[in-house]
Amino acid sequence: MEKSGRQFDVIIVGAGVMGSSTAYQTAQRGLKTLLLEQFDLLHHRGSSHGESRTIRATYTQHYYYPLVMESYDLWLQAEAQIGYKVYFKAPHLDMGREDDDNLLALIHNSRRHSVPHQVLRRHQVAQKFSGLIDIPEDWIGVFNELGGVIKPTKAVAMFQTLAYKNGAVLQDNTEVTNIKKDNVRGGVVVSTANGESFWSKKCVVTVGAWMKKLVKTVTRLELPIQPMETHVCYWRIKEGHEGKYAIGGDFPTFASYGKVYVYGTPSLEYPGLIKVAVHGGNPCDPDKRPWGPGVALDSLKEWVEGRLLGMVDSGEPAMKQCCMYSMTPDEDFVIDFLGEEFQKDVVIGGGFSGHGFKMAPVMGRILADMVVHGEANGVDIKNFSISRFKNNPQATYSYPLC
Ligand SMILES: Cc1cc2nc3c(=O)[nH]c(=O)nc-3n(C[C@H](O)[C@H](O)[C@H](O)COP(=O)(O)OP(=O)(O)OC[C@H]3O[C@@H](n4cnc5c(N)ncnc54)[C@H](O)[C@@H]3O)c2cc1C
Repeated sequence: MEKSGRQFDVIIVGAGVMGSSTAYQTAQRGLKTLLLEQFDLLHHRGSSHGESRTIRATYTQHYYYPLVMESYDLWLQAEAQIGYKVYFKAPHLDMGREDDDNLLALIHNSRRHSVPHQVLRRHQVAQKFSGLIDIPEDWIGVFNELGGVIKPTKAVAMFQTLAYKNGAVLQDNTEVTNIKKDNVRGGVVVSTANGESFWSKKCVVTVGAWMKKLVKTVTRLELPIQPMETHVCYWRIKEGHEGKYAIGGDFPTFASYGKVYVYGTPSLEYPGLIKVAVHGGNPCDPDKRPWGPGVALDSLKEWVEGRLLGMVDSGEPAMKQCCMYSMTPDEDFVIDFLGEEFQKDVVIGGGFSGHGFKMAPVMGRILADMVVHGEANGVDIKNFSISRFKNNPQATYSYPLC
């Protein structure tokens, strides 16, 4: 590449869903954009690959609701641009003990944001879902229409294609090793393991589970973003019942609160199998992955057997897929300017803690606004600030280890 080819308005480091969505946003706004990825595009060694992610509007923290609602619109807009579907609509069910704090907070937030919802007792859950889901007598279900499934690898490919169509340069197999302030010209110099260097006015860092490593190299700042290996489990639906769990019918995306947080989606990507997985995993080094042995299955088997009424084989998962979370102690995202000598020239988007995919379109919009306007336009990012960790150095992780 000649010298001018190495100069950009913005360089985005990391081409998972967050970086790819941001590249689409910046390229669409006419910024000369470079998206750098350390592995092949669409690789399976980060967090954004696979066949399904849940989208839901019900959250225990009220500040995610507007982000999810904006994302629904942005998913549809991106689909209209690309001409194929990545979002599949479904109803959503949250469930747990009637006194579960998370469930109560989520009901409170549904009321606060006027999300049409129904709080259901056991017999009403059975009725609503045609006898496909059973909850104990002291549990409740919270039903709403705002669920659905996003196809992750297809969605990342969509954002990359749209970024490219809008003029972005995408370069894979390029590991960024450092980002330095350019004291002469302003802006930043991004260097790579291949010995290349690029200059840009602004830089966005969306490196998922590698965030702690790269930010430490760049600034010495130690962000508490813990990479964790986790597994998605698929279970075989017993013969004759397959159609009942298929997307497009009654069966919802779901989240089950309690000692373990269990989540799942209707059958879509693998007909005859249903995804039921547990939120949690094992801390890992993203460059030295154990690739297993995976999640503790006992509570998951019990959940499948108890809640799905024996219509799904709870003996062993039919299939497991490996993935990585990047967890913060409070499971809130990290969206902020890197600050220090970079001031507002470097923006970071990370710590998506196992629940960020659904919000990738709005994250791209916000990160692009931070690059262009120096602010997140309409979104208060204080809950996602780096300073929350500085003010709370004792922050401990509360997520379930498996
Ligand atoms: C099993 C599982 C289930 C999930 N379920 C849901 C769900 O149902 N709903 C939901 O909303 N979310 C869900 N999530 C979370 C969601 O998938 C993540 O929040 C999201 O994919 C994070 O994307 P990312 O772009 O931050 O990270 P990644 O996808 O990991 O992207 C980061 C990229 O940066 C690259 N990179 C790293 N370092 C460098 C470097 N130095 N130079 C160049 N490139 C670099 C990496 O190779 C990687 O491609 C789930 C996650 C997992 C693992």
